[in-house]
Amino acid sequence: ASTWANVKEGPPDAILGITEAFKKDSFPEKINLGVGAYRDDNGKPYVLPSVKTAEDKVVESGLDKEYAGITGVPSFTKAAALLAYGPDSKPLKEDRIAITQSISGTGALRIGGAFLQRFYPGAKTIYIPTPSWANHKAVFSDSGLEVKQYKYYNKDTIGLDFEGLVADLKAAPSGSIVLLHACAHNPTGIDPTPEQWRQISDLFKEKGHYPFFDMAYQGFASGDTDKDAYPVRLFIEQGHGLVLAQSFAKNMGLYGERVGAFSVVTESAEEKKRVDSQIKILVRPLYSNPPVHGARVASEILNDPQLHKQWLGEVKGMADRIIKMRALLKKNLEELGSKHNWDHITNQIGMFAYTGLTPDQMDVLAKEHSVYATKDGRISVAGITTGNVKRLAEAIYKVKG
Ligand code: PMP
Repeated sequence: ASTWANVKEGPPDAILGITEAFKKDSFPEKINLGVGAYRDDNGKPYVLPSVKTAEDKVVESGLDKEYAGITGVPSFTKAAALLAYGPDSKPLKEDRIAITQSISGTGALRIGGAFLQRFYPGAKTIYIPTPSWANHKAVFSDSGLEVKQYKYYNKDTIGLDFEGLVADLKAAPSGSIVLLHACAHNPTGIDPTPEQWRQISDLFKEKGHYPFFDMAYQGFASGDTDKDAYPVRLFIEQGHGLVLAQSFAKNMGLYGERVGAFSVVTESAEEKKRVDSQIKILVRPLYSNPPVHGARVASEILNDPQLHKQWLGEVKGMADRIIKMRALLKKNLEELGSKHNWDHITNQIGMFAYTGLTPDQMDVLAKEHSVYATKDGRISVAGITTGNVKRLAEAIYKVKG
């Protein structure tokens, strides 16, 4: 028999399946709201002007193509830490944050999972919200962690199930690792309020839980990189240790360049040094060292005051367009006479709207209206434009009323 005779065909990735179905559809006004990548108001991918300028600078500087160190391009990781933790960050000033460049956010999560699996002194279990980014479970279980869940979403209110979240995290054994989306929770677009974050921080203290922050959308949620980093900085102010995964896919539009960082907030510079050495030992057999180009581009943007400022304006531009499309979608639904309450569309934040549509309704949306998105009712607001919002609202209205 063939060596691979026992390899069974696995299910295709849910998002890729949607893209396939979308491509096959010959209807000219078809709409793809599946993939989480920003589109401009013409529905086209967007390369940020600050990125173009930074790329030109990188090319002009004539750098060689030698390997980076195991933890990547230092000017990039230093600036990434500053962006996340802020200029007033105590652990940053005290030089006790270990950071490594990573293969975007996914790679940061995977290094984090592997690091916790190897060194976390408590149970090797991570709690993720229900629902969460579709890849979290696979990333962490492939890292050797057991994955459990805590309540997050209330389908009746299409809002946060804060009581459920608190109850589940209280019931979890003390010292559990808990994954938190720093901002723009994917897929729901529902974040805790600042007051709720304070309560979550208190609960973590009470229970001795260990936070793993996934920050894939810094700046992209509100248009303000400091505002979006609030929970991470709050937890640090409150004295928590934590680990953090950062991605520059969304906020710099560097999706395919795979630019990210993983960091560990430790208790002392001496501890940082030990942690850093073990991160290197962990990364070396995984991929030796990360690619340099994207990190150099991000580094140019973050370290050049003028480019940095320009970039912040462009991030805000993307966030604002999305916020505008939320309002337009809601307005169109109301004008069509929909009796449902669509406030959640504008209350939610970030790339996605969690519509509350059922899997059956999503099916009809695709088959009868050529509107493609995931079965859980999540639509990528970044795929909505002033040109397609009316037809989208009509389709949703016909399906749901
Ligand atoms: N975490 C969350 C919550 C995400 O939504 C994403 C991207 N969709 C990622 C991590 C990682 O993305 P990337 O690897 O492209 O940075």
